[in-house]
Amino acid sequence: MDKFMVEVSARHVHLSQADLETLFGKGAELHPMKSLSQPGMFASEEKVTIKCAKGELTARVLGPVRPQSQVELSLTEARQVGVKALIRESGVLDGTNGCTLVGPAGEIELPAGVIAAKRHVHMTPADAEKYGVKSGDIVAVKVETPDRSIIFGDTVIRVRSDMALAMHIDTDEANAAGISGTAEGEIVKF
Ligand SMILES: [Zn+2]
Repeated sequence: MDKFMVEVSARHVHLSQADLETLFGKGAELHPMKSLSQPGMFASEEKVTIKCAKGELTARVLGPVRPQSQVELSLTEARQVGVKALIRESGVLDGTNGCTLVGPAGEIELPAGVIAAKRHVHMTPADAEKYGVKSGDIVAVKVETPDRSIIFGDTVIRVRSDMALAMHIDTDEANAAGISGTAEGEIVKF
């Protein structure tokens, strides 16, 4: 089956417009620095500090703004700062833990929103047809690297016409597979 790109997402934050303005000032906007593979998404110049019980980390804000603020950490980072990050799909935040976000103009106490992103493959409906999968399916993806090839189970398929074919994993998962930069993956069946 055709391979696809596997991209590594470093820790990052998504902000609501209201939270963006609390952290960066009234009328604040994100300043795009680099386009991401998903159409319309970008890494911004803005960074915030994530503060939890045992420590803090700086993270970049990804745009555009969203209905709800969200913090995506690897499990290693979550342990480091003392927060339990549930493994969730982006935007599914009920029951998750919160943290404090600090920006140049203020800070906010997020009651929820800290997650470790559930690994996933973005694709268009045409890709889904080609691979014989549908949105929400759970698949296994084999990633071949020179010294640490791995098969990732529990990978969710996310289909939308405005998405681009790419798998997203976090830095812990990338380290487990020995990936530096990007790699290629393919859906495998047992
Ligand atoms: Zn993604």
